[in-house]
Amino acid sequence: MLLDGARIARTIREEVAPRVAAFDTAHGRPPTLHIVLVGDDPASQIYVRNKERAGAEAGLTVAVHRLASSVTVEDVLATVKSLNDDPACDGILVQAPLPKGIGKHGTELVFDAIDPRKDVDGFHPHNVGLLVQGRAVLKPCTPSGVVELLDRTGHAIAGKHAVVIGRSEIVGKPMALLLLQRDATVTICHSKTPDLVATCARADILVAAIGRPGFVTREFVKAGAVVIDVGINRVDSREQAVQLFGANHPRLAGFDQRGSMIVGDVHPAVAEVAGAMTPVPGGVGPLTIAMLLKNTIEAAVDR
Ligand code: NAD
Repeated sequence: MLLDGARIARTIREEVAPRVAAFDTAHGRPPTLHIVLVGDDPASQIYVRNKERAGAEAGLTVAVHRLASSVTVEDVLATVKSLNDDPACDGILVQAPLPKGIGKHGTELVFDAIDPRKDVDGFHPHNVGLLVQGRAVLKPCTPSGVVELLDRTGHAIAGKHAVVIGRSEIVGKPMALLLLQRDATVTICHSKTPDLVATCARADILVAAIGRPGFVTREFVKAGAVVIDVGINRVDSREQAVQLFGANHPRLAGFDQRGSMIVGDVHPAVAEVAGAMTPVPGGVGPLTIAMLLKNTIEAAVDR
């Protein structure tokens, strides 16, 4: 069973639209999302364009603040501060990753500076604390999208053994917390986990958030398990594409046209053992954007 994230994302966007219209009527303006995009990372440009388009379709105002890759942390902090102070700004998203020059510490300073009530990515330590305690309003978009996907496709979480591969702040950790809150028994695996395959093979729900094309192969997956593929990886080598999909797969035509393709962390052959699985593209990605729109209206209404 293919878990159609794109379809569910459309439904969520349709649910958001009347709330956006009601806010507009009540406040005389639509809810407004401000995106800060620093530098010219090509993937970030695409992500921001997609967020802009989806926001506009849902009736939000989306403003993008483009800063050069040479800016200092202070410049980014000044932009965030002006948005914090702007009463007509409901949501702030600083697109990650920030340029290398900003550094890990600088990135933390920037995320920490966002007003938690406008933090539509849910990355501020205040919101992360609320998430740990199970009372967050603004939850990170990708993992909350995964929970929506499971709920709306009728896959129970309570009582299941969920294994999350990856422990990043944006996906792995919050994913594990959300599954725990929904009464799953959760195991978090990462690059130092010794018996990764055996641990994953015990999962009823397996979430892969690693960033390695086709890393999760058949032996990782118990027959009938629900497999959620968070990975978004660009493959530029035709040899690698053939290794993943086989020489006659229809997706190779797309590769030949564009010279690259987007693949997940889960090997396509996993579809033969999994009970249900998300595609890449068209799985978790569109849900992430839908949850961002949902967070923006939550932030606008909650403030
Ligand atoms: P990250 O690099 O911050 O974290 C990767 C995690 O994978 C780490 O915790 C690491 O311990 C683990 N890992 C790496 N190698 C491993 C190995 N050999 N065995 C076990 N664990 C290993 O990445 P991230 O930001 O969490 O993103 C993960 C993937 O999800 C990427 O492909 C990213 O593009 C994608 N992503 C997708 C969406 C979406 O909307 N679908 C959103 C965010 C990230």
